[in-house]
Amino acid sequence: MAIQILPEQVVAQIAAGEVVERPSSVIKELVENSLDAGAADIRIDVMGGGRRLMRISDNGSGIHSQEVELAFARHATSKLRTADDLTRIHTLGFRGEALASIASVSHLTITTRYELEDAGTMLRFEGGNLAERRHVGTPIGTVISVEHLFHNVPARLKFLKSEVTEKRHIVSVITRYALAYPHVRFTLIQDGSEVFRSNGSGQLSDVVVRVFGLSSFKEMLEVASDDTPRTDRPPISVFGYTSTPSFNRSDRARIMLFVNGRWIQDTSLTYAVIQAYHTLLATGRYPLTVLMIHIPPEEVDVNVHPAKSEVRFRDANAVFGAVQRAVRQAVIAAAQTPIFRGGHYTMSANTPQSGWAAADSLTQMDMDLALETPGSQVHGRLPDDTAGDVGEHLSHIPVGAGVPVRPRTLPMLRVLGQIGAMYIVAEGPAGMYLIDQHAAHERIMYEQFMDAYEQQGTITQRALNAQTLELPPTDARFIEEHLDVLGNLGFELEPFGPNTFVVRGIPAMLADRDPLDVVAGIVEDLEAGNLPGQASIEDKIIMRVCKRASVKAGQILSHDEMNALIRQLERCRSPHTCPHGRPTMLHMTRDQLAREFGRA
Ligand code: ADP
Ligand code: MG
Repeated sequence: MAIQILPEQVVAQIAAGEVVERPSSVIKELVENSLDAGAADIRIDVMGGGRRLMRISDNGSGIHSQEVELAFARHATSKLRTADDLTRIHTLGFRGEALASIASVSHLTITTRYELEDAGTMLRFEGGNLAERRHVGTPIGTVISVEHLFHNVPARLKFLKSEVTEKRHIVSVITRYALAYPHVRFTLIQDGSEVFRSNGSGQLSDVVVRVFGLSSFKEMLEVASDDTPRTDRPPISVFGYTSTPSFNRSDRARIMLFVNGRWIQDTSLTYAVIQAYHTLLATGRYPLTVLMIHIPPEEVDVNVHPAKSEVRFRDANAVFGAVQRAVRQAVIAAAQTPIFRGGHYTMSANTPQSGWAAADSLTQMDMDLALETPGSQVHGRLPDDTAGDVGEHLSHIPVGAGVPVRPRTLPMLRVLGQIGAMYIVAEGPAGMYLIDQHAAHERIMYEQFMDAYEQQGTITQRALNAQTLELPPTDARFIEEHLDVLGNLGFELEPFGPNTFVVRGIPAMLADRDPLDVVAGIVEDLEAGNLPGQASIEDKIIMRVCKRASVKAGQILSHDEMNALIRQLERCRSPHTCPHGRPTMLHMTRDQLAREFGRA
């Protein structure tokens, strides 16, 4: 083929590939434009996960009637004049690419009225070509509707994920901007029902409550840096919320960082947050964090990637340090005072400090737990394996009876006793075994559950008096997305309003658990499942169910209970690891013992 300059249309489509990956990227770009236009109220209507319609309405400045066409030309922007301006970007947009790109791969209608004009303008584009232009009466501000996204890019269309997945991405985008702009009122309507709203009060805390729910917010600490200005590093302010060490998750998706009002992805800064919890969080557990980092614009380069969610700092170490110090301060300040909430003592697991700090309040904690009736739950989401579980009764180790006849995979073990209400000490022909009671029980439950599921394709369910469960919008999308799988696994959930579900049944083995707690735990695992190369959704849910149903570390077991547990472990297919791959037991052979004692 002879060399040719590509037609404008084709160039725009190629560029669109970088900017417009999926419906939520369209929404991201349009919302950024609304924010840059100074809107105080932004409404987002979405139909069919964005495939049928996305409409963003704002009350910002609007576009002058003589410039509307221009706004749709490539590299047309009002936010940048010179290359020098690139070094101090104050706006979310600056590339002048979004409108051209979106219009080139959709049918787009814009209605806009500039604040100093009396009438508005309506333009309609089809695949980037102007199809209609009119003057219209309309309030100040801009409404952009996008339909038939990717109608002319079959490759993209084919790779779009399910409607629920797209909906979930859209919720994430909107909640992020709502957090970054608490003084702007956001309303997200999906298929006619409101799934998210922020009130525009200007208070970050109000939005955090809307996004994560009040119960999560109650577990969060305020972060506010009080770094004294220094000449050797840029002024950096860090403000936001981060969870107490005891309120943690299995994935880092809820560590949300914003730089000058822009949500960013930055592994190093995420690590700064995690490091601030050093020794206070178990490995593999992460906090919930929302941090607003403010730094002079010339200190940060936002022009790294077309999607603008990566940035580069001139002095990355300074930012790392500022974030880590601010979070650490908040966490340490809180760790020094035992926390009482509504009579319940929350103790962070794995923290030597809190163990000491808790010493003088232990009696209070014991009392609280003693007051719990058997089987009732400590409310809120306690992390697994905390001392808070001590008071729970044992209900899942069938004592004496019902040992399944399966081939033996471990030698016969004789139970000797329990250490620290966590480990079972046992003796076998080949030496001494130390068994992690929680991990071992998880393994047993997991295999029993899997067997039942594989044989019957479904799981016995225990019906409940219908209870309604309201979830934060992102969590609700996760549940919605996996309703059938959850159904097969014994969770009967029925959508009831945009973010609410009626819980009619849960797997029988969880019958005495708090359904809210169980479902919330499952969402957490499903979200962590976004990482590639992980187990299937079914597997994850089953693992979580087994985790919840297993005896906890910190639970005192009777000799019979320990025996029952060991008898079942001896016949598990993979008795040496828990479903998550951690060891269930440590083994010290006779030879090792002899060597250690200098007998060999
Ligand atoms: P950029 O945001 O990078 O400048 P866009 O293609 O997103 O590029 O937008 C082009 C221009 O259109 C903007 O610079 C702005 O002047 C104008 N514009 C876009 N959306 C709006 C809006 N909602 N309100 C007012 N002006 C807008
Ligand atoms: Mg823009």
